[in-house]
Amino acid sequence: MHTLRASKYGLSIKKLPPSITEVIDTLSKAGYEAYIVGGGARDLMLGLQPKDYDAVTNATPAQIKSVFGRRCRIIGRRFELAHVYIGRDLIEVATFRAPPKKEVTSAQGMILRDNNWGTIEQDFIRRDFSINTLYYQPRKGILLDFCDAIDDIKSKTLRLLGDPAKRFEEDPVRMLRALRFAAKLDFRLSKDILAVFTPEMAKLLRDISPHRLYDESQKLFTMGHLQDILPMLIQFDIWKQLFAEIRPEITPFIGLVAKNTDQRIQVGKNINPAFFYAVLLWDNFLERTQFYLNRNMVPAEARAQAGLDVLKRQSTRTIIPRFTETFIREVWEMQVRLLNPKPQQIESLANHARFRAGFDFLLLREKSGDKTTEGMGQWWDQYQILTKDEKELAIIQYNRTRVKKRRRTSEVVIEAPITTEIEPLVKESEVHPRRSRSRTRPTPSPSQAEHKSDQGQVIDAKHPILKRKRVQRDLKQVVFGPTQ
Ligand code: ATP
Ligand code: MG
Repeated sequence: MHTLRASKYGLSIKKLPPSITEVIDTLSKAGYEAYIVGGGARDLMLGLQPKDYDAVTNATPAQIKSVFGRRCRIIGRRFELAHVYIGRDLIEVATFRAPPKKEVTSAQGMILRDNNWGTIEQDFIRRDFSINTLYYQPRKGILLDFCDAIDDIKSKTLRLLGDPAKRFEEDPVRMLRALRFAAKLDFRLSKDILAVFTPEMAKLLRDISPHRLYDESQKLFTMGHLQDILPMLIQFDIWKQLFAEIRPEITPFIGLVAKNTDQRIQVGKNINPAFFYAVLLWDNFLERTQFYLNRNMVPAEARAQAGLDVLKRQSTRTIIPRFTETFIREVWEMQVRLLNPKPQQIESLANHARFRAGFDFLLLREKSGDKTTEGMGQWWDQYQILTKDEKELAIIQYNRTRVKKRRRTSEVVIEAPITTEIEPLVKESEVHPRRSRSRTRPTPSPSQAEHKSDQGQVIDAKHPILKRKRVQRDLKQVVFGPTQ
């Protein structure tokens, strides 16, 4: 083990946010050892802005809890961790871990339970790549290097600790992590990783829960190097495991959105990983819609059913949370509304909550060469910057072309009564297997304002729980779950 002077490698306590130093200092004052480990130390050394800081200590989760009290929550079962809240920041604090005991690994060698506390020497061996094993004590200004990780940082090499095949078998998600770090840091995979990174090995990802894979996929989408990672996912056969039903091909649309996503991240804009799922699954959605249309289903129903089918299938690989599912289906439905809007609804559409995402999607389709948008991406792009009078004119002109087009195609249209109101993009009452339970129950009328709790207890209508509104979750705020 080498103890290095942190300042020699560009690390300084001044560069750290106060929340992480507070966690380290509080634990130290309580008599424990505490370090910054993983991405925080690694990225700072590489001159990058760390996404977050992870702390590690010899205090057990229960001891961490007694140090931070109500500011601390213990999470995870397979991998117990403490979440410490400092102001608005969340710091993940892990306890030094010893090698897992034999009986808690699966037949394939996958670690199933991993709460065996140990020393710092044991803890470092359990980590994945050498560059993730630097322990930084900012107050003391020291960096502990147990495996010449500094050399790998200098030579930009991703090296797994121990036997690579065994380490991938223990936790197949390390394959995804390998590609993520290679793409993000522009590192190369060591020869012995390449030797075992076979399609057969990639298949082990089937044993990983769809929840964990969804978390990992979000990290892939939001790290700012989507353009680099996508070809790697195909090359290493990971794509097949993550997106089984999606053709392993970077279509012009996918490629353009990946580029656009990376650019947005570079300039500090927020991105919603669900948007990229909507893009990846777009062709599947179109094909499935066609399948239902061929069976004479009415278009709106065909789209609704196709959306549900496609997302349900993807969920078997990476779970699609309910709010993500709704978002994706709304973006898809917006494509039809924006392509052929009713003139009197144009302004309402432009103010719709899902307009921005739907419009971005349409414009990116168009820019990637999709002719089926009929230039409407451009039209909406222009429309938004017009004055009120200009907008009225634009709508009149749009209506004229629309009528002409209909005459040309001798389309018989029975217009619905003129209304500016937009039909809901996704109807909650639609057939949905996960919702079916509630549909079979009779809905009590407001006068029957009586509700039952899970235990069958009658809850008074004035009870605060019944007044809670369903809050739309902001995807930008989603905290990724534990990664191990
Ligand atoms: P970033 O946060 O930038 O994605 P990171 O390296 O900090 O990268 P985390 O997922 O935050 O990654 O994990 C923190 C540290 O925990 C890692 O640096 C690594 O040392 C260890 N670690 C995480 N996941 C694994 C794993 N699957 N196997 C072994 N060690 C892991
Ligand atoms: Mg991290």
